[in-house]
Amino acid sequence: MKELQDHDIRRVVAGHQGSLLPDQGPHRNGDSFALQTGLVTSPAKRYNAFSDELKRLFGCRVQRISVDAGFTCPNRDGTLDIEGCIFCGGHGSGSHGILRTLSVTGQIEDGKEVMRRKYKAARFIAYFQAYSNTYMPVDRLRSLFTEASAVIDVAGLIIATRPDCLPDDVLDYLEELSAQSYFWLELGIQSMYDTSLELLNRRHDHACSVDAIARVRSRGIKVCAHVILGVPGETRLQMLAMAGELNRLDVDGVKLHLLHVMKGTKLAEMYGRGELQVMGRDEYAGLVCDFLERLEPRILIHRLTGDGGHDNLIAPLWSLKKFEILNLIDAELERRETHQGHFLARPMR
Ligand code: SF4
Repeated sequence: MKELQDHDIRRVVAGHQGSLLPDQGPHRNGDSFALQTGLVTSPAKRYNAFSDELKRLFGCRVQRISVDAGFTCPNRDGTLDIEGCIFCGGHGSGSHGILRTLSVTGQIEDGKEVMRRKYKAARFIAYFQAYSNTYMPVDRLRSLFTEASAVIDVAGLIIATRPDCLPDDVLDYLEELSAQSYFWLELGIQSMYDTSLELLNRRHDHACSVDAIARVRSRGIKVCAHVILGVPGETRLQMLAMAGELNRLDVDGVKLHLLHVMKGTKLAEMYGRGELQVMGRDEYAGLVCDFLERLEPRILIHRLTGDGGHDNLIAPLWSLKKFEILNLIDAELERRETHQGHFLARPMR
């Protein structure tokens, strides 16, 4: 896709005129997100939280359990590259804390115990998160996902993958799976700017993401786009414009990640050489609020901040206190008296 200039972005960032950041202007409409949007959601939340959706659907607390089923990724196995994305540790993005030696069933059973103890969860979603979880022949995918679905109290599946790992035979199978069960496909699009995708060494462009989202949605499969905030070189306006792009692509869910620096990554080397700065906590919380205000209210928010894990995180260390950040975001939306999609409901002035 053609890279957008800041003056273009000003037009696509919905419903805002003048200085975008930080948004300190007076806001009206203190009604809750639920009242304003007609969605039944937690009164405390001013955005369409995925956890609320799960509670509505299943009538109990549902927690995701991350599973590492031994996938790899074309950006690691030499098909595209062996280096991987610059933010990715050697075991694939999001694989920390998973006991890879256990079977899929074993990992889920292990996770169930933890989630029951920690969150009093009653049902679970098997979350195939590490590496690219459609990067195997269909027969093997069928065997792994059938095994996960069969575990008692598993309510559904989330499969995370790259946009260039979705051949038609895989989509045929995922369409079938989606028709039979509660199912989401999570796509790492990361940025809508090709220069950023190059910097991140993603080895696909934004056109590839756009095409993948359209093909997945045409099958009736729910798609959650994974976006990184804080990519070096992206301006705040450019980051906010991604909310408009996600609206345009009509995704069903969004997962926001703060760019964080993990040990053993290219990003860590760059950080060590002083080539990048990480965001401050309040800056990130403000940015997330601005982003949410520009995102369609129907889009489910799967996550608002990354979770790097104690052992491998270099920076920013404040991101380890996930609940503090979520509370800060809630408090800031409350202070502004705004909610997800706030600016979309108002004409440009
Ligand atoms: S696509 Fe995913 S698993 Fe592959 S290198 Fe990038 S972050 Fe890591």
